Amino acid sequence: MDARLEAIRDTVLARNPGEAEFHQAVVEVFESLGPVHDRHPEFLEAAILERLCEPERQIIFRVPWTDDQGRVQINRGFRVEFNSALGPYKGGLRFHPSVYLGIVKFLGFEQIFKNALTGMPIGGGKGGSDFDPRGRSDAEVMRFCQSFMTELYRHIGEYTDVPAGDIGVGGREIGYLFGQYKRITNRYESGVLTGKGISWGGSLVRPEATGFGTVIFTEEMLKTRGTSFDGQRVVVSGSGNVAINAVAKAQSLGATVVACSDSSGYIVDEAGIDVGLLRQVKELERGRLKDYALRRSGVAYVEAGSVWDVDATVALPCATQNELDGDAAARLVRNGLVAIGEGANMPSTREAVAVFQEAGVLFGPGKAANAGGVATSALEMQQNASRDSWSFEHTEQRLTDIMVGIHHRCASTADEYGEPGNYVLGANIGGFVKVADAMLAQGLI
Ligand code: NDP
Repeated sequence: MDARLEAIRDTVLARNPGEAEFHQAVVEVFESLGPVHDRHPEFLEAAILERLCEPERQIIFRVPWTDDQGRVQINRGFRVEFNSALGPYKGGLRFHPSVYLGIVKFLGFEQIFKNALTGMPIGGGKGGSDFDPRGRSDAEVMRFCQSFMTELYRHIGEYTDVPAGDIGVGGREIGYLFGQYKRITNRYESGVLTGKGISWGGSLVRPEATGFGTVIFTEEMLKTRGTSFDGQRVVVSGSGNVAINAVAKAQSLGATVVACSDSSGYIVDEAGIDVGLLRQVKELERGRLKDYALRRSGVAYVEAGSVWDVDATVALPCATQNELDGDAAARLVRNGLVAIGEGANMPSTREAVAVFQEAGVLFGPGKAANAGGVATSALEMQQNASRDSWSFEHTEQRLTDIMVGIHHRCASTADEYGEPGNYVLGANIGGFVKVADAMLAQGLI
């Protein structure tokens, strides 16, 4: 790392103790930024990096609710409003027992650069709770969401901060959150949340956007080597919103997706995943992958082990952070991996990224590859602002154009800085320069 940036990094890490994921995200970005500061000493003088690493605002709050037995439950809610240089804070809410400030900050920090790369007018933020929706009834989830919004509502708004979904937050949760926001404020403010239902202000393609976008970005990477998804053998991790739609899109382009996972195990379906059955089990029934294997012949279900044991030419990690370590990366490379597109945020550890890059595997980092979700959220905001709703075809074309544009921005930035094919560097520098320029223009705030 550049010596000038090392001192800033050390200060940031010391100021934010015990936040391992945030540290990891910061270090990864800093490692790319030395050459930018050679060209732009004004960024150092204006302390852009120090300011970027300090969220503009952080909110932590109590979320009391009652379960179906009438017992009082207490969770912790978070919203980190990281950077508004390019637009209102924008980023999802995650409901998962592992959520704490360090995870919300890593996600919010990444979101700043990701949102800049989309070219849309959105700043970076993230939020969530350590609430676990798994195994909870709809009524419990509704009471939790209502309590969560009873505090959050005062901090958000279509011109201020616009949350969306993430792990554990899908259409059901966004509905309950929107309903409570409307009730408290007495305003039908469509643009305050994205990921809404189609009949009440949502956008077509938003549910598919992150998974589709990841595949579109990966297809663009494959094209640079004269190949495509057609005929590839693909492994996907996760079986939630991002994973299912990545499976669907990859198969529509001619790939065979042979495996996917949930937090209990993984399935291997050599004939290619049946997307309809996967949606039925995971989305409609909120069931487990084990049930998929029970209902389709020729499918193996593996309870222990890692989905990365399955050989593939293309890997799409779409579950969670640090799910793919250096050993798994080395195994994938030995088994013939050509490309990896991160649908999840920071799913590959630092060691794994180094293995992929040394082996010359095409590596699309999450902040570029999974930006299709937030980009389509921004398209939802556009439709809300103009009281319009676009067709599936039009919206999907916009998404495709945006993902091709992000790929181009990353690739051309990597070329410009003398590291062709280094999408990590391209994404970090491409996003950073845009935000840094806007921060300089807006003065010391
Ligand atoms: P979902 O909640 O819909 O699905 C998450 C999937 O990952 C589930 O299959 C879940 O398993 C699995 N999973 C979650 N946590 C763990 C864990 N700790 N260990 C193993 N498996 C786990 O979430 P999304 O699909 O929305 O999000 C997946 C990833 O994509 C996240 O990293 C998220 O930040 C990122 N992302 C999401 C966007 C979106 O638009 N939704 C946008 C950009 C990025 P199980 O079913 O057992 O719970």
